Amino acid sequence: MNFNSHTDAVVQAAAGLVNVFTAGERRGRPYPLPPAAELRVLAAEVLGTTGRGVRVSEAELAELAAVARDLRAVFEAITAGDVDTAAAQVNALLEGTQARPHLDRHDGEPWHVHFHGAGDSIADLWGAPCATGLAVVIGSEMQDRLGVCTAPHCDRVYVDTSRNGTRRFCSTACQNRVKAAAFRARADTG
Ligand SMILES: [Zn+2]
Repeated sequence: MNFNSHTDAVVQAAAGLVNVFTAGERRGRPYPLPPAAELRVLAAEVLGTTGRGVRVSEAELAELAAVARDLRAVFEAITAGDVDTAAAQVNALLEGTQARPHLDRHDGEPWHVHFHGAGDSIADLWGAPCATGLAVVIGSEMQDRLGVCTAPHCDRVYVDTSRNGTRRFCSTACQNRVKAAAFRARADTG
């Protein structure tokens, strides 16, 4: 995408949080919330994308799940074509986490913008940058790049980083499932 790399990273983290921390369906199967130990591993994978690992208590896992539900509402509203609701939801998250831009320079990197919340809870620490990243996307002409998988029995979300912006599935697994079903349907009728 055309955003700077930190924005790309936090938008991907937002999608990752939604996919790990909200129950639903995934690639044709039910997706119940994994047990805490597994959640911790998955969370570290998702949040490690911006260069910071994560060690979290059970209470903090619950906080992240609450943030993830709020973030999911943004993806769902955009998918439904309801940008007004998505914008209101992002504004509520920005307000709640007190997100604020802040120039930072660490680990030998050049100056770059972080979007930390004012609080030191994990919900603010991750909710603030995720909300800010989504705000940048929704405030741009690429707002439709946020999506919910259109395959049957899957409600995982994605960020479409393809050149043409034609992505419709969370994964190649779902894309292949839908292709195979269409192929079988044609074979049945033909
Ligand atoms: Zn899917």
